[in-house]
Amino acid sequence: MDSRTESGGHPVPDNRDAAEIERQVRACRLCPLHRLRTNAVPGEGNWEADLTFIGEAPGRDEDVQGRPFVGRAGQLLRKIIAAMKFREDEVYITNVVKCRPPENRVPHREEIETCFPYLVRQIELIQPKVIVTLGMTPTGYFVPGRAAMGELRGKFGEYKGIPVMPTFHPSYLIRNEGNREIRRMVWEDMQKVMALLGRK
Ligand code: URA
Repeated sequence: MDSRTESGGHPVPDNRDAAEIERQVRACRLCPLHRLRTNAVPGEGNWEADLTFIGEAPGRDEDVQGRPFVGRAGQLLRKIIAAMKFREDEVYITNVVKCRPPENRVPHREEIETCFPYLVRQIELIQPKVIVTLGMTPTGYFVPGRAAMGELRGKFGEYKGIPVMPTFHPSYLIRNEGNREIRRMVWEDMQKVMALLGRK
């Protein structure tokens, strides 16, 4: 029998599958980043979420706690989620790379490509109605082309039929704290996401 049951026309994710992905990520040794980690960070939130946020990779705080977006950038992301009138347990938050790169460098292409199948399975299972990609690293894997974030943000792309909204990474917002224009753009992007999800 199929591991999913139908409910109201929506397949209900089998939590055993979700738990299995998390277990595999936590045990993963497919790339050298596993040697440096304290914890792998599979992601967290609701496996039936309409809205999924995808960041770059865990940082120091995330590596220590084994949870995504729990440091300074994470606190800002969680504020944005609250401002969008979503509870944290309604959304799913993850990264393209599940282990911390040393010194928080941008993950290498091979690291991303090795890790990407986990993200693909997470998206297949969650089947979100919208994906938000935070910063250029995830955006580059979901929206084709070589345009800069200033060009890509604010316009829905598409991944396997799912609308994808690229926006600036919360760390970029923190680095440019005084720049109200960047904040305004991120909020404008999130309002488009809210409108698509009927939350506005
Ligand atoms: N930045 C990211 O991209 N992901 C995290 O989990 C934390 C910070």
